[in-house]
Amino acid sequence: MIRTLNRFLSACFFPKGPLKWFLMGGFGALLALCTWIVYAAGGTQCAYVHIYYFPILACGMCFGARGGLSAGAFAALLSGPLMPMDTVHQLDQPVFSWVLRGIFFMSIGGLSGMGATIFRSFLENQKLRLLQDPLTHVWNMRGLKEHAMTRQRQGKKLVAVLIEIKQLVQIDAALGPEGTQGLLRQICERLVTLASSSATVGHLETGGFVLLCESLESAHRLVEICRTYFTGSFTVDHVPVFAELHYGIAQADSATEPMTTLLRKAKIATNRSLELKRDFAAFKEEDDQKLQRSVFITHALKTALDASQLRLYYQPKVSLETGRVLGMEALVRWPHPEYGMIPPGEFVPVIETTLLVNPFTKWLIHQGMAQLAQWHAQGLEVSMSLNFSMANFQDMSLIEELESLVGEYSLKPQFVEIEVTETAVATNIASIRDILFYLRQKGYRIAVDDFGTGQSSLNYLFELPFDVLKIDQVFVRAMCENSGAEAIVRSALLLAKELNLESVAEGVENAKELDLLQAMGCAIGQGYHFARPMPAELATQWLKSHAFVKIANTHAQK
Ligand code: C2E
Ligand code: MG
Ligand code: MG
Repeated sequence: MIRTLNRFLSACFFPKGPLKWFLMGGFGALLALCTWIVYAAGGTQCAYVHIYYFPILACGMCFGARGGLSAGAFAALLSGPLMPMDTVHQLDQPVFSWVLRGIFFMSIGGLSGMGATIFRSFLENQKLRLLQDPLTHVWNMRGLKEHAMTRQRQGKKLVAVLIEIKQLVQIDAALGPEGTQGLLRQICERLVTLASSSATVGHLETGGFVLLCESLESAHRLVEICRTYFTGSFTVDHVPVFAELHYGIAQADSATEPMTTLLRKAKIATNRSLELKRDFAAFKEEDDQKLQRSVFITHALKTALDASQLRLYYQPKVSLETGRVLGMEALVRWPHPEYGMIPPGEFVPVIETTLLVNPFTKWLIHQGMAQLAQWHAQGLEVSMSLNFSMANFQDMSLIEELESLVGEYSLKPQFVEIEVTETAVATNIASIRDILFYLRQKGYRIAVDDFGTGQSSLNYLFELPFDVLKIDQVFVRAMCENSGAEAIVRSALLLAKELNLESVAEGVENAKELDLLQAMGCAIGQGYHFARPMPAELATQWLKSHAFVKIANTHAQK
């Protein structure tokens, strides 16, 4: 639409180049044709003399006031002293008559030219309003697209740098829209100066800025300049503000790549820089694939939950002292009809970022408790470990659901263990303290999962009521070859003992690891050495035939 308007403007009003000369010639010929018509029709006494207005008006519109005046003057001359009033009787015109007509012609030409100039500047203003951001007066998204298309027509593969302000939401809440606008204007003015002629600056409605460059080198150079210049400190209305800028850089794959695709790639890079807690990242294809997959997972998860596509697998936990099978950990599986088995490591973190986290855990609790009740009914007195996400502790209805199911199936709470990862616990002590104490008081057992991978600060261990410490499998799997890993496992076991916590080693894969764990005094083991996670039916069969498992160095029964 804008491009059509643009072409129309440049073609019709104030043409340039060959078109200008062509039109000037055309109008000259038209004036000559008008003169012949007026002469042939009998002279200026006839109404035909008014046809001069057509070329005069057209000339004014095309060439402005000067063009209109000139065309009017020409028309006045051609229809003036040389043209008879009556060509049949060769009667001359009175001077007053052709002079007055000339004045009319010139006035109409001048006025039409002035009107065209005003109209043109109005259209140009409108065009700018469509393409420019009203706050910063740099290009908006539409403007950037227009600009990119012009460059791409010259075969350029563009590079976009997307700059986002990390604290924009907080600043907006703290300073209000006017403060935010002040900050954006400040940053934009500086970006325009820094970019100078090496890049085109744009501002998006989302608050981000775009630098459109013609090569990767110039984009990198510009980002370096900006990183050096913007230190994060700004002053808005005499208030000091800290705002960190994150830069995402992406190059178009071809000269025809749409601007929206290029900006999407730059956005992925900016997000990556935020994730990595760095101020800069370049676009990588695998980040895009990861994002597409996580978007797909988020969409498909709801269907998976509704259509009961998710399955629970169970992995045994074995006493390393007696070989007795003490419990089962419920581990979710997603056998997707199209994409095969999707591992929990891929979709659980996605669930945790959405509101599906609670319906999902509700499903987990229902399945887990029903299975536990079935096992207990069959005389298989094991415990059930359920993995909880942080968000689950914010929703009391989940805990109520768990309690009501435990009551409904007449289970003892001490057979239910809730696992929560160290990373989640250590960063949210205050928000989960009450609920953990409540669960502990009701008799449920609580385990710190993946111990050793989360935090260096261990204060959560004495601030929160834990019963079990599960040492992460990375240490267990490496401890036979790596003395550092062995030292960590040894220290963790010592810590568990001192804090009166039950110790569980995850990821026990072979007899050598088992021996070492036993020697170090680990209470419980879990891993492929005993059994892999199994679907419910297989797990039941396994439990029936494995009340005890054979433990090296002990005389445990099988
Ligand atoms: P996790 O709770 O630490 O579970 C242990 C993980 O180690 C499981 O991976 C299990 O299959 C794997 N594993 C057990 N023994 C061995 C072994 O000997 N060698 C190796 N290489 N791996 C072993 P999985 O099932 O892929 O689960 C990964 C993580 O996903 C879990 O770690 C847990 O954090 C999360 N997860 C699984 N199910 C759920 C769930 O229902 N809810 C929540 N919130 N998270 C879950
Ligand atoms: Mg676990
Ligand atoms: Mg774990």
